[in-house]
Amino acid sequence: MTEAPGGVQVVRTPEALRAVRQGLGPVGFVPTMGYLHEGHAALIRRARQENALAVVSIFVNPMQFGPTDDLARYPRDLDRDLRVCAEAGAQVVFTPDAGVMYPPGFSTQVSLTGVSEPLDGAARPGHFTGVATVVLKLLNLVQPDRAYFGEKDWQQLAVIRRMVADLNVPVQVVGVPTVRADSGLALSSRNSYLGTEQQARATVLSRALRAVQAAYAAGERDTARLEQAGLDVLATDPEVQPDYLAVVPPDLQRQPTVTPDPLNRVLVAARMFGVRLIDNLPLDPADPVPAALPPGGPA
Ligand code: AMP
Repeated sequence: MTEAPGGVQVVRTPEALRAVRQGLGPVGFVPTMGYLHEGHAALIRRARQENALAVVSIFVNPMQFGPTDDLARYPRDLDRDLRVCAEAGAQVVFTPDAGVMYPPGFSTQVSLTGVSEPLDGAARPGHFTGVATVVLKLLNLVQPDRAYFGEKDWQQLAVIRRMVADLNVPVQVVGVPTVRADSGLALSSRNSYLGTEQQARATVLSRALRAVQAAYAAGERDTARLEQAGLDVLATDPEVQPDYLAVVPPDLQRQPTVTPDPLNRVLVAARMFGVRLIDNLPLDPADPVPAALPPGGPA
């Protein structure tokens, strides 16, 4: 165990983690892949506010990257991350090596049906199996009372809520609203691949989502026509290669028409300048995500 500037304890093994975890009050946990930004900081601050101990993990999980994904070039800067963690109030950072998480002989996968299948599940085969497997491992290692995930990754949040409910994992999953730049661009570690001008162009994603919200507010309830309102905005920039733009109910299974539900969502994934970006918004901006979700969450 080492102590980084700001008093954060850095632990690299399950044994060291168990030692710092023991005997303390409620633990809030924020799993991340590092290269932290204000979105991550919002999760960490929330974890610190609601718990005695805030634990952050920084682990670029090879299992959730496909063969053509950006694992090798995924941005990393541990020193900077530790400063962000300290400033946001984290007391412990768990940053294991891949060999600690996946030692030789590792053979288990957590794979979900249903909520993990459409959208990113279809676009990135195996991705959510990698996410669910590492998140369950991290939850077992940290044993938090609460775990904090961003609404930015809406489908991931739904997958984790489903897994936690299905497998009786004793943790409360907390969703945290997406933090955006003033331009509307959702903050993401992957934005660092883009220059300033490219980031300005990438606001087309959130503008497309808002166009769908506007169509819904104007009374449109046909899913395809709602989606077309967003696709029309994406089409204004020839750089955009959409993976999907979808209006979905809480279980993420697209329906021909929209039935009112506060967890209805519009999600987009698109490639721009060689970078895959995702974003989502509530279909009706007047719908806050309910603080208390039904058992098993939105999925
Ligand atoms: P990542 O490091 O990208 O795996 O993200 C770690 C956690 O931070 C996930 O729960 C994300 O949903 C969350 N997160 C990422 N970007 C944002 C953002 N802009 N606002 C809120 N949460 C975010």
